[in-house]
Amino acid sequence: MRFYKNVILLGLTFVTSLTFGQFKDNVDQVEMITEIQKWEKDSSKMTLSFWIPNSYWRIALAGNPIGTEKTIKTIEDIFEDYVIVCAADILIDGTAGITSTPDSILRNNIRVIDRKGKKYYALAEADLSSELALMLINIKPMFAKMFGQMGSGMYFYAFEVKDKKGNNLIDETKEGEFVVAHSNTIFKWRLPLVSLLENKICLEDNEEMKGNWKFCPFHGVELK
Ligand SMILES: [Zn+2]
Repeated sequence: MRFYKNVILLGLTFVTSLTFGQFKDNVDQVEMITEIQKWEKDSSKMTLSFWIPNSYWRIALAGNPIGTEKTIKTIEDIFEDYVIVCAADILIDGTAGITSTPDSILRNNIRVIDRKGKKYYALAEADLSSELALMLINIKPMFAKMFGQMGSGMYFYAFEVKDKKGNNLIDETKEGEFVVAHSNTIFKWRLPLVSLLENKICLEDNEEMKGNWKFCPFHGVELK
């Protein structure tokens, strides 16, 4: 029995590595943030969608004194069943200065759209479990610090994006894509996140290539 189980596991690993390459042991936090945080800017407006996938916490809190295994696990368990997005819509007016779209408007406006085009709306505050509501409040200062003055206009939203069996449709480690839309702006992610993947190597010149690329764009050869 054990033998068969091992064979099956080996088979699964093989298929996974063929599709996505390898996952990194040490993910660069800055690289990951660059990929999960998207801004759209013009002269009068700055719009943010900062998707916070569950694997972010372990990476962000590595080496941080508050990042004990227990704390990380607690955060991961609470957020596991949700898609968490931090959003802001900041208006820059030469005379009025900086104003931001309030939570009440953003919450009704923001949506997640899966690859089939199905829309998911942010859970109302009253529908959040008490531990989820508390966790969203607790993480706010961490992110507000990252954005300084603009931090006050940022709000956190939780979505349930699941199939009929209750499986999450958005997984940063699996192939897929999704959109976050709010404030007349579209933000799109393709998955898996490249920052989680080991770089590949082009065997023609040993140059490092992105982990989600299948072929070298310069030589056309398949990447390993
Ligand atoms: Zn090449």
